[in-house]
Amino acid sequence: MSSKSFNNIIISRDALKANYQTLKEKLGLDRPMLSMIKADAYGHGAVEVAKSLSEAGCTIFGVGEVREAVILREADITGEIFVMMGFGREDAKLFFDYKITPVVFSWEAITTLSEIAVKRESEISIHLKVDTGMGRLGFAIEELLDIARKANQLPGIIIGGMVSHFAEADTPEAISNQIAIENFANLRMKFKAEFSASCHLVNSAGVLNFPKAYFDMGRAGISLYGYHPAGGGVSCDVKLRQAMTFTTRVIQVKTFPAGVGISYGHAYTTKKPTKIAVLPVGYEDGYSRSISNKAEVLIAGQRAPVRGKICMNLCMVDVTDIKDVKVGDEVVLLGSQGEDNISADEIADWAGSISYEMLCMFGHSNNRKYID
Ligand SMILES: *Cc1c(COP(=O)(O)O)cnc(C)c1O
Repeated sequence: MSSKSFNNIIISRDALKANYQTLKEKLGLDRPMLSMIKADAYGHGAVEVAKSLSEAGCTIFGVGEVREAVILREADITGEIFVMMGFGREDAKLFFDYKITPVVFSWEAITTLSEIAVKRESEISIHLKVDTGMGRLGFAIEELLDIARKANQLPGIIIGGMVSHFAEADTPEAISNQIAIENFANLRMKFKAEFSASCHLVNSAGVLNFPKAYFDMGRAGISLYGYHPAGGGVSCDVKLRQAMTFTTRVIQVKTFPAGVGISYGHAYTTKKPTKIAVLPVGYEDGYSRSISNKAEVLIAGQRAPVRGKICMNLCMVDVTDIKDVKVGDEVVLLGSQGEDNISADEIADWAGSISYEMLCMFGHSNNRKYID
């Protein structure tokens, strides 16, 4: 099929590579960095992102589920791939078939892997997840060493590492960060005394905020895509480049007199004669209904506010103050046009969300193009 949508997600490979390089330098060039490409690389496309980052020198990737790792392998992505969210018994064999690294947080998962390793006369390196205060996945701190020792006795199991995750690293002053770092550092000392293992804790916020918590590896997600985990208002010495741009085209321009209701529910009424441009973008495209009457877009380098409710695949913007807007004009919903920029942080503020969610929604709902 050659017909295409007016809506385009454009991903800059250069921005991804530059961010990888910047973060790698921050982390220390001799320390490995895992690139988190779960959720189809936060909407940027896992296979394409993995290819670009491989070119930039990345050899370690992280995904949520096994199926995401299999997709990467079938697209010839080499390098180590971590599956962070466990697996069903029926999928355990895939870790062997595709040489994928499991992060485990249950005893059952470990014994399942051992049984398969024995059957195949093979072995597998596992990373144990420990909960240092996230209140999510992982073994308890107190049980981790015992679990590791027991697992190490099982045939076919190699203790490859230990993983934990911050709850509040984007709020550097939060006390939970220091507790997590201390607990992890103590556990790591004991762990390393018994196992030759890689112990890793920091996500993007940790890479930016906690050099003393770098330990044996970093795991960067959102920062690779050009965003500070704490949002746009935070000043930061690490300069990142936004990788995603979201564009569309004007499909109709019309002028209404004062007092006319716009879109479903007439949630906006024109206050004076108003020129409205209709855009073929709506919540189906990830442009959330929650930003109705709040969002802005760029046309001819100028801001045009969204008027009225965002529909399933249409929305209206006010172009009264922008000269000569016509059908076919390029509209930037996310990214730069002229001198101005609309970031995923700004859209997230309108939506009461975070950049992560905006990037996932836009990327998952639209065709993507890649540029260098
Ligand atoms: C998603 C995730 C990361 C990356 O987090 P960012 O905030 O995007 O850098 C790292 N580690 C784990 C366990 C994760 O789930």
